[in-house]
Amino acid sequence: MTELSVEPIEREAIHEFDDDRFTRERVCVVTGAASGIGRALALAAAVNGLTVLATDVDEDGLAETHSHAARLEVGDAVEPFVADLTDDDDLESIAVAARDLGDVTFLANVAGLQHVAPLESFPLEAYDRLQRVMVRAPFVLSRHCWPNLEATDGCVGNMASVHGHYVTSGKVAYNVAKFAVRGLTQSIAAEGDGAVRSFSVSTGYVKTPLVTDQIPETAAQRGLEVDEVVEDVMLGQARTDDMMTPLEVAHQFLFGFSDLGAHLNGGDLLLDDGMTLTYD
Ligand code: NAD
Repeated sequence: MTELSVEPIEREAIHEFDDDRFTRERVCVVTGAASGIGRALALAAAVNGLTVLATDVDEDGLAETHSHAARLEVGDAVEPFVADLTDDDDLESIAVAARDLGDVTFLANVAGLQHVAPLESFPLEAYDRLQRVMVRAPFVLSRHCWPNLEATDGCVGNMASVHGHYVTSGKVAYNVAKFAVRGLTQSIAAEGDGAVRSFSVSTGYVKTPLVTDQIPETAAQRGLEVDEVVEDVMLGQARTDDMMTPLEVAHQFLFGFSDLGAHLNGGDLLLDDGMTLTYD
């Protein structure tokens, strides 16, 4: 039986990278830090020695992230910062707050959202919102942080998806955004010219509240068992019967930021259990 709940992250589960640059003087900005993958990354980055500016529009979720950080004994290293990524003033204030904390070296653009509707009736407001949060904000934040990233040999990690490689119906705004994020990643690599690196991370379904909350409803709608929804609908062609965890995704970001990722520049880390590469 598939376990749908997302367990709190324990310290022993967090991989610690042996990296000279993972120190409290250096700041890692994490967007989407109130939930799912962003929260896992904020916690894992702090446990790995970095100072984290944890930002999200969801104030309560950020407070919860901070209490998890305190539980993991890194509460002092995680600074919650409420901001709306669709607001230009807020984007600037994220960069200012990050600079106040130390040397801004890492930027993780993780925040995202979904809207499902047919192309011909896809609401423009939803289309624009998805592009603003998942494409425009990562670009604007990269620009605001650029001088600091150049000064520190910094790195931008962007959350993409299997939907940045192939697409499903009903998700036109998400599909376009995830392809665009890979273009942004490569543009940063080009203009970073070795001083600023970038990479993207593409996964299939990850066990976050965003996904697990939908499963019982999908099961009821389709007359399926929960396990059938996970295996047939969500994992599809993936050669696995389990979803990735948020912490597993967070580890990919830290790998990319670390020395181990020194030659990863513009590339995409595709961890999809073969979903986009195989078929029966
Ligand atoms: P989540 O819903 O758990 O977290 C997303 C966070 O983004 C939320 O805390 C939300 O408040 C924040 N956010 C949304 N709009 C915002 C705005 N305007 N300003 C500031 N913050 C905002 O989702 P998740 O599953 O952790 O997804 C994180 C990223 O991973 C997204 O980019 C998503 O597309 C991507 N992704 C997720 C999966 C998956 O299966 N969960 C798979 C591939 C890629």
